[in-house]
Amino acid sequence: MGLVSLEDMCKKAYEGGYAVGHFNINNLEWTRAILETAQEQKSPVILGVSEGATRYMGGFKVVAALAKAMVEDLNIMVPVALHLDHGTYEGAKKAIEAGYSSVMFDGSSYPIEENIEKTKELVATTKKLGLSIEAEVGAIGGEEDGVVAAGEVADPQECKRIADLGVTILAAGIGNIHGQYPENWKGLDFDVLQEVNNVTEDVPLVLHGGTGIPDDMVKKAISMGVSKINVNTECQLSFAKAVRVYIEKKKDLVGKGYDPRKLLAPGTAAIKETVREKMELFGSIGKA
Ligand SMILES: [Zn+2]
Repeated sequence: MGLVSLEDMCKKAYEGGYAVGHFNINNLEWTRAILETAQEQKSPVILGVSEGATRYMGGFKVVAALAKAMVEDLNIMVPVALHLDHGTYEGAKKAIEAGYSSVMFDGSSYPIEENIEKTKELVATTKKLGLSIEAEVGAIGGEEDGVVAAGEVADPQECKRIADLGVTILAAGIGNIHGQYPENWKGLDFDVLQEVNNVTEDVPLVLHGGTGIPDDMVKKAISMGVSKINVNTECQLSFAKAVRVYIEKKKDLVGKGYDPRKLLAPGTAAIKETVREKMELFGSIGKA
């Protein structure tokens, strides 16, 4: 099937009252674990890659080639999007050129007029190529590739202005945070989410920082227009935990237990389980 844009999968999710999981990848194991789980669960899936992770893996071309080849070689038949996560203006252009099927342009650090100008240009480029684009209004709290902000809430009128540019999906801060949530976190701001969903009409919404939001809040957000949920930290935590157990049990010292294919296998299995749990929570299982 190759890589597809977010257009169809997010529209179907928006109308069907479920959300598609965006899972960030870091390497080959991550990519494989997510794709295999999507295939097993018959779920559409979004492979999210930040610019930092792109650099880590070697560059835009490496990531695009890896994702495309893996979908083909593993016979993945469910819809798969390769999506640049929190892209800069320049990064979005490079990702498009390299073959990503979708980009997020995070212009939230620009003044709103400049965010609008740059988003508008990238909307035109992606539309022409049949790709999708996610835009962001108001920073997402927590750490965003080095940028720290605290649980911000977007202005619904600014959301409307960006949504009206023709973006495929829209990320708006509603008190959500990247990384792990602090104990005194106030929860999602559903009043703002409702207002944003009302003014942006048919544009599906994105919830970033999907790790650690209580299940009932996630479900409520989905019922209010959230059709894409970003999960990153949770896969990292489950991977690290499983690999740590393997090493603490000194399994790497037995036979060829040091073989990276053995050493990383428990981590990969743990990612698969986390992804499956999230797909179940988001309601995307069987939707492909
Ligand atoms: Zn994010």
